[in-house]
Amino acid sequence: MRIECPFCGSRDVSEFAYYGDAKRRPETSLSDASRQFYEAVYLRDNPAGRHEDLWYHSGGCRSWLRVIRDTRTHKLFHATFAAGEPS
Ligand SMILES: [Zn+2]
Repeated sequence: MRIECPFCGSRDVSEFAYYGDAKRRPETSLSDASRQFYEAVYLRDNPAGRHEDLWYHSGGCRSWLRVIRDTRTHKLFHATFAAGEPS
């Protein structure tokens, strides 16, 4: 499996760390942030279809990436964006 990093190009997935659902990131300032992070990481949904994940290119440029994939077809990555850019 390969991920198209917008900065490094096509790279093996082993260079990346998975950080869960890109649209479900709790605010760190909340008093129950630890519980919300636990739920976001371990009690996540498993939707069928288009899904946005957050990945970190730990073995490359160390950028945060927003990756879009289809969970039904295992067509792995439709597109990647640097985290924080509009999708
Ligand atoms: Zn990269």
